[in-house]
This record gives sequence, C-alpha cells and structure tokens, in this order.
Amino acid sequence: MNISIVAEAESIIRNLVGELTAPRPRECLPCYLDRVLCDARCDHTLRLTGLYRDAVAPKATALEERMQSRGGFCDCEVLMNVYESKSDHVYPCLGVRRGSTQPCGLWHRWG
Ligand SMILES: [Zn+2]
Ligand SMILES: [Zn+2]
Repeated sequence: MNISIVAEAESIIRNLVGELTAPRPRECLPCYLDRVLCDARCDHTLRLTGLYRDAVAPKATALEERMQSRGGFCDCEVLMNVYESKSDHVYPCLGVRRGSTQPCGLWHRWG
C-alpha cells in the first residue's frame, strides 16, 4: 500500500469532517446543530455545542450549562428541548451577530 496515498486520503477525510462540523459564518447554534446532525449522529454529548462555542463565541463558557439547565444534555436534546423551529424549513440560517449564541429568527426558545 502506498503510504502517501493513504496519508492523502486521510487528510481529505479530515478536511471533509472539519468542513462539515465547522459553523458557517453568522450561522446560529440551532441552525448549526440542525445542519450537522443531518449528517452526523448525536454522540449523546454536547460535543457540537462545544465546537460551536469554541469557534463562534469562546467567551460563552456557560453555554453548555445553560443548555443543560433547559433540558439539553446532548446536541439533539438542545434542538428538541431548548429551541423550537418556527417552521419546517429552517434552512438557510438567517444569520446572527458574530459572537452571539442567540438563535436566528427561524427559532424561538421554549418557555
Ligand atoms: Zn442526543
Ligand atoms: Zn439560524
């Protein structure tokens, strides 16, 4: 097996995965989770929520705690329990201010 081809394939896969799980510019948290969870299954942690926070709002260190206090103990639960989409079509994201962890106008928060 040709090592350089394997290495190249691995780096292509890494780039694809990175692209998939990287928040898009001005994409809000629920739109981001909704988009990524279409392709990637929830792993029962707040991994994607943490990735989003690190990429978009690194200062929002209490984000996971806030999600948990509203019933979002993993990424899919954040979508189910914390935010509610206003329509069946939540794509594309309407966009939020840079550094904000608020949802865009396509979502509202339960309660
Ligand atoms: Zn889940
Ligand atoms: Zn959005």
